[in-house]
Parts: sequence; C-alpha cells; structure tokens
Amino acid sequence: MSVSYPEAMSTTAIRQFHLEPIDADAAAALRAIGGVRYIADSKPGYPCRRCLRDAEVGEELILVSHDPFSIDSPYRCASPIFLHADECHPDLDSDDLPTQLTCRQLSARAFDDQAMMIDAAIIDGRELEHTIERFFSDPAAATIHVHNASRGCWAVTVVRD
Ligand SMILES: [Zn+2]
Repeated sequence: MSVSYPEAMSTTAIRQFHLEPIDADAAAALRAIGGVRYIADSKPGYPCRRCLRDAEVGEELILVSHDPFSIDSPYRCASPIFLHADECHPDLDSDDLPTQLTCRQLSARAFDDQAMMIDAAIIDGRELEHTIERFFSDPAAATIHVHNASRGCWAVTVVRD
C-alpha cells in the first residue's frame, strides 16, 4: 500500500509515510454486517474511510464502528466511520493528502509500537502533513491515528515508511 513516486516528480519532497485507510477485507465485513444507512444530502459531510473521499450528494453510505488498532492498548477503541454502501477503492497515488482530511479540523494522535500514545494535537487539516512530519521526527512514533476532531470519527492511520 506504500506510495512511490516517479523520478520526474522529485521536485517535491519524498514522503516518509503512507496512509492506510480501512482495508478492503475489513470494509467488506462491515458492509456484510450492515450499519445505519444514509443518503448523502450535502458535500462535504459524509467522508468514506475506505476511498478517503467525501460522498457525492445522493450516494449511499453506512455508519458503522471500526477499531483501527491492531494490538491491545489502553487507548484501543472503536470509532464511528462512514463507508460507501458499495465497494469503493482509495486512490493513494496523489501527491496531495485527501481533501477529506485537509478540509476538516482533526485530532492527530501519535502511538509507539506498543500502541501507547506519545503525542497528540488538535489541528487544522491543512496542517496535517506538517504535523505528521513533526510527530515522526520522534523515532518512537510508529503510527498516527487521525480523527475528526469534533465527532471523533477515525479518519485514517498514517504509517512511517
Ligand atoms: Zn468510499
């Protein structure tokens, strides 16, 4: 899932991290179980955490709970997330972070390899890239969980390359 950039695009700094949305299998399992159904009636407003874009008006989504942790931790918990009701795919090849992230106020939480929180900040989404770089300047930071600051929905996990 890591993103690589061709030589011709090396005028921009090469990222030392990649985004991990909910994986396809976990999304499929949640769709099979089902959740609270919504039809998007505004945009932005319904951010899908599989494809990392806000639903277009009229698209169908489900609201479900997702635990983004892979190991036990006092911080481990499930968060509410929207998913498109139908299968969708992230486009992780862009140089830009998804608008879904940069257009919102976010909570960014850095964890070490034991899933213990070592830093956290409430940020304007436009500061996300800078915040990721700042958190990862600490060698102990292994992952960063990004949440919607106000409603708490998990948005994406950022992993150091
Ligand atoms: Zn989607």
